[in-house]
Amino acid sequence: MTEIIKPVAIGNLCVIGTGLIGGSFCLALKQAGVVEHITGAGRSEETLQKAQQLNIIDSYDMDIANAVKDADVVFVSVPLGAMQAVFEKIAAGLKSSGNQKAVITDAGSSKLQVQQLADKVFADSAFRFVAGHPIAGTEESGPDAAFADLYQDRRVILTPTDNTSTDAVKVVTALWQATGALVETMDAERHDKVLAATSHLPHMLAFGLVHCLENMDDIENIFRFAAGGFRDVTRIASSDPTMWRDICLNNRKPILEMMQRYRDELDMLYNALEAGDGEKLIEVFQHAKQTRDKFTH
Ligand code: NAP
Repeated sequence: MTEIIKPVAIGNLCVIGTGLIGGSFCLALKQAGVVEHITGAGRSEETLQKAQQLNIIDSYDMDIANAVKDADVVFVSVPLGAMQAVFEKIAAGLKSSGNQKAVITDAGSSKLQVQQLADKVFADSAFRFVAGHPIAGTEESGPDAAFADLYQDRRVILTPTDNTSTDAVKVVTALWQATGALVETMDAERHDKVLAATSHLPHMLAFGLVHCLENMDDIENIFRFAAGGFRDVTRIASSDPTMWRDICLNNRKPILEMMQRYRDELDMLYNALEAGDGEKLIEVFQHAKQTRDKFTH
């Protein structure tokens, strides 16, 4: 775990994408009193107006390049598929305004491709980009879903490279710590493997399970009898489809590797059940229970 860094006071924070993740970041920082002014930017004016009404942002600018011109920190919390276009607008805005101080960070759920994109688009200024990912969220989206405590005691992974400025990492770390989060740093490739196993595969399974049942006969009755287990396992299938398409496409290789492992596991369980091998089933279930109890209690 990263040491606690003295709280920083930020003058101008620009948040691009004021939905669940960006909105909660703003609310938490306002609650901590570490930011003077927050400018929102994004895609639709409706979302930005809503974010202002909810006191998530203090003002907004529909022009991303203009929104970042006086920023001390730029926080990007848009879907991964929108990152490139947003990065290009940020780079143009910083260049045309001569802003050479802004630290840029993001919240995207996969990190290697985002870092590669940042290296390409920010070029000589890429050392001021700190890739990050809060391991927190809900299946809701948009500014209405944002809340100040989302990051309290939750982990945030930063994936700086050898080229990343240590001062920039300190600023981003201090901001996340001010939201109540526990900050860790990790190599981007390792991040993507870990998250493929712990988050991306479970989402694939949840989407796949609901989709599989949806195509069965008598589906109304099947869902009417859905009990707690079904709800627990499929809650995350209510997550935003666009966001998850982007995550899957951005972290394709590690997710495919995990899906293959899971396929092998399902085949093993299938074979044990087909053979009526109760001993095998109990051995697997016991191991799984012990492991889950150990890591979740
Ligand atoms: P969200 O609630 O849907 O918010 C996304 C925001 O991005 C909205 O304000 C949206 O504006 C804006 N946006 C969408 N497309 C855009 C574009 N082309 N240009 C500019 N702005 C655009 O999503 P979120 O859950 O906050 O997720 C944001 C990021 O955080 C994603 O990269 C995701 O991978 C990551 N993340 C999510 C979670 C989670 O559990 N949700 C957890 C960790 C990290 P409009 O309303 O106008 O479309």
